[in-house]
Amino acid sequence: MPRDYYEILGVEKTASPDEIKSAYRKLARQYHPDVSKEPKEVAEEKFKEISEAYEVLSDAEKRKMYDQYGHAGINGQFGEGGFSWSDFTHQDDISDIFGDLFGSIFGGSMHSRPRSGPRTGESLRYDIELTLEEVLKGKEIEISVPHMASCPDCNGTGAKDGKVNTCKQCGGRGQVQSIRRTPFGQMSSISTCPSCNGKGKAAVEKCPKCRGSGRLQKTKKVSIRVPAGVQEDDRMRIPGAGDAGYDGGPAGDLFVVIHVKHSDVFERDGVNLWTGVTVTYPKLVLGGETVVKTIDGESAVLKIPAGTQVGAVLRMSGKGLPKMNSTVRGDMFVRVRIDVPKKVSEMEKELLRKLDETAGTGDKKSKLKKKLGI
Ligand SMILES: [Zn+2]
Ligand SMILES: [Zn+2]
Repeated sequence: MPRDYYEILGVEKTASPDEIKSAYRKLARQYHPDVSKEPKEVAEEKFKEISEAYEVLSDAEKRKMYDQYGHAGINGQFGEGGFSWSDFTHQDDISDIFGDLFGSIFGGSMHSRPRSGPRTGESLRYDIELTLEEVLKGKEIEISVPHMASCPDCNGTGAKDGKVNTCKQCGGRGQVQSIRRTPFGQMSSISTCPSCNGKGKAAVEKCPKCRGSGRLQKTKKVSIRVPAGVQEDDRMRIPGAGDAGYDGGPAGDLFVVIHVKHSDVFERDGVNLWTGVTVTYPKLVLGGETVVKTIDGESAVLKIPAGTQVGAVLRMSGKGLPKMNSTVRGDMFVRVRIDVPKKVSEMEKELLRKLDETAGTGDKKSKLKKKLGI
């Protein structure tokens, strides 16, 4: 498991871009192999590690992917062997500290190894929405995913008929060096060759279909099986369903993000559901049965115990949602409401009046009994 980038730079997850930059600069002073007190190999390893962390966290887009998906989210950004110096694009952020010391690390070690070879495609995100009823059963769903597909005409090479030459601008190294003169001395920085994008090779003639990029915008259908019991913001990873790789590299992943629609009937609390039922006053007092709708789409009988209070919560076990990858279901909690009729018949009124007069007296007051003729 690679180390956490925030931990490497010693910053909080909420650190501002300025804080990240200053943390990186501080560590760079400590570990640049040409100035570090550490043995060279240790310093080089350490310097590379902090630079990788900085490369990701200093880029808003990459940082977002890393925050959401961890190392998996940025895998496609670097070459197959992971981060290498040719991936580093922030030399300028420390060039004032090291000046021409750059040549030694960014130049020396990089020149010999051109940036080429396959790279993983980008990972994609796709959001879907399920109803609570669908959460109960799980759902087989087919989604249409816009993505970059490998160009069939050139097999993803970007070169017409696959014919390539050594890049003229970089002479096949994949990097170009630029030297600037500043008041502090000469500064040299190395960057990926803009002409060949670091491949060191250039198409003799660009593939007309993909205009040399090797990839085409397409939409593909992807079938996914969403398991029962998923929750809001759950993510499903579908390996290889993202954008096509570069130069024959593997495709990125597809992350399907789950959302659950609001229901007017049920409220979710993990595996439990909450709902309400309206009961008459006599039924609350005397007890009885009523019918409630369940998430299964059926009606279930709910027992109302005698003397149930308004606002009481009754539990129906096993009528909730399943845990993910389990058949065990949570419970449904039913909050009892009272139904106060707006219109009542004369007979009902009479009974209600008698009820009102006797309310709370129990059976003790014989005077009232007499009055009511009972
Ligand atoms: Zn093509
Ligand atoms: Zn080039």
